[in-house]
Amino acid sequence: MSVQVFKTEYIESVFLIEGSPFQFKGREYLKNIYDCDPEEVILKCGRQVEKSTLNAVNIATFTTTKNFFRALYVAPTNDQVKVFSRSRLQKLYDYSQNNYIKENFYERHLARAVFFKELSNGSEVNLKHCYEEADNIRGISSNGVFIDEVQDIYVDAIPVILETQAHAYDSGAKCKRNVYSGTPKTFSNTIEYYWQRSTMSEYIVVCPHCNTPQILHIRNMRPDKYVCAKCEGTLAEGVPDPRLEGRFKKVTYYKKSFWKDKDPDKRIRGFRISQLLVPWISPQEIWEKYTSYPTSQFYNEVLGLPYEDGEKPFTEVVLKRITDPDLAMYDKAEGYFSNIYTYMGIDWGLGISGTGYTFVVVGAFNQEGKFQVLLAHRFSRGAELDKDYQMSKICEWMHTFRVRLCLADWGFGHDRVTELKRIFGTRVQAMYYSANAGYKLKYDHHKGYWISNRSRVLTEYVLDVREMPTKFVWPGADMQRLQPLKDDHLAVQIEYRPTRTGQSEDLFFIHSVATPDDGFHAAFYCWYASKILPPGALKIPFIIVTK
Ligand SMILES: [Zn+2]
Repeated sequence: MSVQVFKTEYIESVFLIEGSPFQFKGREYLKNIYDCDPEEVILKCGRQVEKSTLNAVNIATFTTTKNFFRALYVAPTNDQVKVFSRSRLQKLYDYSQNNYIKENFYERHLARAVFFKELSNGSEVNLKHCYEEADNIRGISSNGVFIDEVQDIYVDAIPVILETQAHAYDSGAKCKRNVYSGTPKTFSNTIEYYWQRSTMSEYIVVCPHCNTPQILHIRNMRPDKYVCAKCEGTLAEGVPDPRLEGRFKKVTYYKKSFWKDKDPDKRIRGFRISQLLVPWISPQEIWEKYTSYPTSQFYNEVLGLPYEDGEKPFTEVVLKRITDPDLAMYDKAEGYFSNIYTYMGIDWGLGISGTGYTFVVVGAFNQEGKFQVLLAHRFSRGAELDKDYQMSKICEWMHTFRVRLCLADWGFGHDRVTELKRIFGTRVQAMYYSANAGYKLKYDHHKGYWISNRSRVLTEYVLDVREMPTKFVWPGADMQRLQPLKDDHLAVQIEYRPTRTGQSEDLFFIHSVATPDDGFHAAFYCWYASKILPPGALKIPFIIVTK
């Protein structure tokens, strides 16, 4: 368009929401979010605050105001993607004011499928799910990335999703627009990582009675109204609505309100939208939730704030219990360990922010029958980040420790695994974590790697490490060498998230983007190699383990 209009004006004059023109009246807090139009936005939201509508309106606006705009929408599950595509985005396109979009952007031959849509101005939308690895997203090229329910997206998949924008500035609409949105969980969650790197803008309400600016929070809540934290004057109240049986309509009395950045210098714009802001949820409903929800749920879903009740499976105490200050690390199999089975675990990383580091752990059962870590190494800097260096070091240790079985993460290291297999044959095996495998462990003969149910096998490791009397022992004589292994275990958190079908909840192991957990996985792979080929066993049994 040649005439410069505010995004909000365009939105109000084009779109229909359930048959009525989209209106910002009563939703003033949304105006700034649309109009500031930054390259990257993080929306930290409570539930039911029109987050999906916001995403749909954003995508529909970009694709109809910018020619050749390539949008990529990503949500954790296939069902979430389908619902968004059909009942949000497609409806905005199909039913617009005066059929503006149908008349100007539709042509017979253009795709309007659930997972791919195109418009006559050359713009297109890809819609993809991303429950675990982002394999299905590789190869797409995009200008705009819209990640919904980002709190449930596997943290290590995000760099892969963002990789679709490698050519954002020189292809398609030649621009970049990213919107991450979701509901907070713990402080270690991805959404909090982005939030901390954003302007962290809060909506400020000014009391009409005493002019005190404030952020609406629990202290403002009363059973039937919101009051000023300073003078107790009414800010908003719920009045009976005759049209809604037994329900209340929210009436606000403050005129002045605005967004305030906590850190204006940040490039990513961050906005928190709590249920206390939205016009259709009354103070009575909020109070009802306040008195009936568990605290964590109230913070996450109503206030849109993180709450720390995520479980940390490994604490200082747990790790101290399994660390022997008199044990040193080894660089080769010596003494007792030179005649028994030793195992190696490898977790691959690129050594750049967000992808983690390559980590190698070597271990074996000692004379007491405990699983002893002989070597733990994180390739963390300089020449160590070089792939060839890592490979030569790994080959060296395979020899010096006479490793009987090495289990490596399949992930994006599969070319390296293939190379190792070529050198060491069946002594090297790869494992692929699956989020929803109906069995615990299976060897896929077609693909040539092990598939495990991620939460089940990791839970098994956690329980064994925590067990008393201890079943593991770590070499603590040189704490500096052991520290990365320790740090990577301390970084692990457990959260619950909906299963792929949404029918129940799954244990989910997470770590924050800023704190890698590769050492945890390498130690797990090392120990799990001893499950696949126990000491003394002659052959790997390629069978399905369901229990
Ligand atoms: Zn006041």
